[in-house]
Amino acid sequence: MTARAEQPEPGKKPMRSCVGCKVRAAKSSLLRLVVAGDGIVPDPQARRPGRGAYLHLSLECFELARRRRAFPRALRAPGSLSTATLASYLSTQDTTENLYGKQVEKL
Ligand SMILES: [Zn+2]
Repeated sequence: MTARAEQPEPGKKPMRSCVGCKVRAAKSSLLRLVVAGDGIVPDPQARRPGRGAYLHLSLECFELARRRRAFPRALRAPGSLSTATLASYLSTQDTTENLYGKQVEKL
């Protein structure tokens, strides 16, 4: 889990828009994404260089963004980006309705 970073000044929290649902939220509550190679990878520590995009820790937002092709736009990356790494990361992190992760349950 992330250690508590320095507290931002109250009222001056950096805000970002989720690339999925477009809702603005505190940067700290969103997952940073960056391009690595030909794929999108999560950057929970926000340490990777380069352009980042922000997404709620939610497969719903991920699906929205993917369907809209919001990732290449937000990340200024032309062409198709693999979202497999991000998808599997989210399926372990998403604590809301875990539609995708739960499909692994044995029948
Ligand atoms: Zn969202």
